[in-house]
Amino acid sequence: MIVRTRFAPSPTGFLHIGGARTALFSWAFAKKHKGDFILRIEDTDVARSTPEAVQAILDGMHWLGLDYDEGPFYQMQRMDRYKEVIQKMLDEGNAYYCYCSREELDALRENQMQQGVKPRYDGRWRPETGKVLPQPPQDVSPVIRFRNPQSGNVVWNDLVKGEISIANQELDDLIIARGDGTPTYNFCVVVDDWEMGITQVIRGDDHVNNTPRQINMLMALGATIPQYAHLSMILGDDGQKLSKRHGAVSVMQYHEDGYLPEAVLNYLARLGWSHGDDEIFSMQQFCEWFDLDHITPSAAQFNTEKLNWINAHYIKQASAESLAADITQRLVKLGANVSEQPNLLAVINLYKERVSTLNELATNIAYFYQKPVMDAAAAEKHLTNDIKPVIAALAELLKAADWQAESIHHAINEVVTQRQLKFPKVAMPLRVMLTGIAQSPSIDQVMALLGKDEVLARIEQVLK
Ligand code: GLU
Repeated sequence: MIVRTRFAPSPTGFLHIGGARTALFSWAFAKKHKGDFILRIEDTDVARSTPEAVQAILDGMHWLGLDYDEGPFYQMQRMDRYKEVIQKMLDEGNAYYCYCSREELDALRENQMQQGVKPRYDGRWRPETGKVLPQPPQDVSPVIRFRNPQSGNVVWNDLVKGEISIANQELDDLIIARGDGTPTYNFCVVVDDWEMGITQVIRGDDHVNNTPRQINMLMALGATIPQYAHLSMILGDDGQKLSKRHGAVSVMQYHEDGYLPEAVLNYLARLGWSHGDDEIFSMQQFCEWFDLDHITPSAAQFNTEKLNWINAHYIKQASAESLAADITQRLVKLGANVSEQPNLLAVINLYKERVSTLNELATNIAYFYQKPVMDAAAAEKHLTNDIKPVIAALAELLKAADWQAESIHHAINEVVTQRQLKFPKVAMPLRVMLTGIAQSPSIDQVMALLGKDEVLARIEQVLK
């Protein structure tokens, strides 16, 4: 049997972290088994679905590199097919018209609540042998309900949660088409999972309650029942349900904030799944290792610090060439003018092992391409009146220096020795003058890249 999985987002917002993890697991499962991964856009909630949200899903999938073998299929384009299947269910006695008005249903509900029983449809329009149904009223457009079995249990072996069994008595007859004939959410999912030949439904556990109903409908259609894997939810750093409150939850926001897609994927893969103690691995490796047995049924907790650590690893590992285009864009956004000098690749190499995000990288190196913004506290601390003449003397030496990190280092050393100072006593004010802050990689390397004219100009600017 060929494995066929799907990711079926509703385009009502952005592609969030939870959705991306569901997509990743479905994608990896298909890849591992050399099967197909399908993208299906569940856009039947017309009031909440937007083209922007569809685009956000496509952009997010593209950025992460989660390629699909089929789709995107749009449910709104499959309405005719759903209606055909509804007709089939009516014809076969698995569905029926229900003429209850809203008022009637409200009264029924009210009554049940008063009696302390769970509100549910009482089956008044459900055909049974020997039962005489009421005369259909003229003024009500009927909904169509699925004729759910009334006895027995729906049982499935959830690949994450283990065996789940729900008594059919708990399930009332679900509406599968509204009064205007449009099919409802659960029904569309059923038709699609059936016709798209989905073998494993991997989705968030907010759908567990839909599963017994969907299985019953699939059985009524004579479909093969897929396996189900319900992933636990993702909690924020603080253990609360992940939400905007926790900062970025949209996948594209991570892009904007300077995370690499491979870092986000690697991080997401470990959210609720493990392979021993392995933390850093490629997607190719993940697809080989991935299975549904090692998914934890308990909620996974988001850990920004760990994501940053993984991102730092991937940035360190990336070549400067592969980062340059992205970093250029971020520098331009910061208002920097990325000219040919200083050489961007060399600048990136000088900094890429020191940062956790690409934004941090761009912010840290912006001073190479624009005048540094002087940190007032650092300036006050390091640009003291007694150090200024020392720097002035150094500037004289630098004017004559051959512009290599080594000779620059040598010049600083000379001044330091002459004045019987410690190296940082001179290096710190230099950092502040040249970069705006008191932290930087080795100052002679920074100076070498910045260029002689620029270094002397920045020093002069402060000394004058
Ligand atoms: N469209 C549903 C959602 O975005 C997912 C449905 C499913 O995976 O079965 O939550």
